Amino acid sequence: MSVPALRHRKIPSRLRKIVFDRDGYTCQMCGVSPSDADPFVPARRARLTVGFYVLPEAGGGYAENNLRVLCLSCKEGFRKVSRRGFPALDRPSLLKLLIQLRRATGADQLEVLKWLVQKFPKQAQDLSK
Ligand SMILES: [Zn+2]
Repeated sequence: MSVPALRHRKIPSRLRKIVFDRDGYTCQMCGVSPSDADPFVPARRARLTVGFYVLPEAGGGYAENNLRVLCLSCKEGFRKVSRRGFPALDRPSLLKLLIQLRRATGADQLEVLKWLVQKFPKQAQDLSK
């Protein structure tokens, strides 16, 4: 199995930084961040790169709105299913997220809260006023 290159040659580093900042250094398919274990290969850390919503060979461009942060496992899997014509995964809806969160353990809900407060410190401060 081939491992995709960490940096895509045609995506300028300035644009890559914009996409990483916008997506919060989080894989937009499985949700891992660089401090997490790779969900598909737990022995190694997740490695992130910038990938596409629609692959260039399928007509997708290099504009910011067609780019997203992906871990290497999701990027490789996405390329394989995309070539077979399966659609890309959609973002989960708010309702889906809330349903999943409500079903999680209290300890896991607290981990989500800590992660959100860390990701949005100013908004968390405004909410606690
Ligand atoms: Zn992923």
